[in-house]
Amino acid sequence: MTNLDNIVSLCKRRGFIFNGSEVYGGMAGTWDFGPLGVSLKRKIMQEWWHYWVEKRPDIYGVDAAIIMNPKTWEASGHTATFSDPLIECKECHQRFRADHLDESLSEKVTTEEITEADIKCPNCGKSNWGDVKQFNMMFATHVGATTDDKSLAYLRPETAQGIFTNYKNVIDSIYPDLPFGLAQQGKAFRNEISPRDFIFRTREFEQMEIEYFVTPDTWKKHFKELLKDCHDFLENVIGLPREMIHDEEVAPEDRAHYSDRTIDIEFDYPIGREELMGIAYRTDFDLQNIQRASSKNMEYRDKNTGQSFIPHVIEPSFGVERLMMAVLTAAYTEDEIDGNKRVLLKLPEHLAPYRFCVSPLLKNKPELVEKAKEVYDILKAKYHNVTWDDSGNIGKRYRKQDEIGTPKCVVIDFDTLNNNTVTVRDRDTTEQERIEITEL
Ligand SMILES: [Zn+2]
Repeated sequence: MTNLDNIVSLCKRRGFIFNGSEVYGGMAGTWDFGPLGVSLKRKIMQEWWHYWVEKRPDIYGVDAAIIMNPKTWEASGHTATFSDPLIECKECHQRFRADHLDESLSEKVTTEEITEADIKCPNCGKSNWGDVKQFNMMFATHVGATTDDKSLAYLRPETAQGIFTNYKNVIDSIYPDLPFGLAQQGKAFRNEISPRDFIFRTREFEQMEIEYFVTPDTWKKHFKELLKDCHDFLENVIGLPREMIHDEEVAPEDRAHYSDRTIDIEFDYPIGREELMGIAYRTDFDLQNIQRASSKNMEYRDKNTGQSFIPHVIEPSFGVERLMMAVLTAAYTEDEIDGNKRVLLKLPEHLAPYRFCVSPLLKNKPELVEKAKEVYDILKAKYHNVTWDDSGNIGKRYRKQDEIGTPKCVVIDFDTLNNNTVTVRDRDTTEQERIEITEL
């Protein structure tokens, strides 16, 4: 497997991902997507929406506001418990996420443990630590023209609550039968103490979450089915290699405060085996909390039995950037062609930013350029994701398209003018074949 630097560097030089606000010296924990990156990202998100919402009879979409009533975060437990352990070095006054100082430390690390393990400050090398404090990761903001306690609000730290708060609206408006799911894609924000590892841990990111509502005694069955669907999506829709994906049962003491069972689906990233996504059984925790905090009835009335109860919830939760980083990791390949090192992205055809690149063999022959434009127009009308490239020589164009992940390069040469055939060159094998334009 390649190292992360190679992926970061390819992403920058080919227009996938840039440092956020780079022109002003950057903004820690933010990344911007360039033309190729946004294309790949959107395709991943569209595949997800198609697989989970459009193709299924039982999952519906919602799209809630990012800034929600702050009562949301009190009821969900985020105001009280959504925090990371923060520690300050008393020598250089740098602050660190305490549990990330050393691999041996757990999330519930104390100052005593850090002192006992003789952990040195990564900045100044001394070991004179302050107390571990809990740092709330929600981004605060103020709504309206005043900045007091009453105007305080937060950028959502997860999309899930935007689903739960609309659960009642949905059952009162479209009356879905249980089990049913609500899905949402959108931005979430976490004030990470130390964002790191490219787009793996960022302060602003995109989630794709499903809350799947079930009758309480059936949760095990649905958990199993949804887990299977998650694998189906990752392996057969997104095309991640099975052997790079691992299920990790999360121990009770490591689970989020709301969960009675969680499986992390991990992936072999260049930074090691890390969480790609999670599936959690959230019980009726969220709906109970909302019922308590809002005094609204969150019960579901079964049309057949007439029974009323609060449904339980299973949540498959995906991070777009983590999925994208997995796709890039699996696709990044180095090989050798005629003694020359080559870098390519073996992206699945349906995720590649461009399916075809069309170019004239020579840029300075008007008859070739004209014919190539004709072919380009035909393919562009048919497939949309088609690019034009007449820069440099043909070898350089191939290298560039290989790095972007374009599966096929179509080249128009003098034979094309005589017999209407073109050369189609395959990204993975570099083999070329001659085919009729009409067969493209
Ligand atoms: Zn220090």
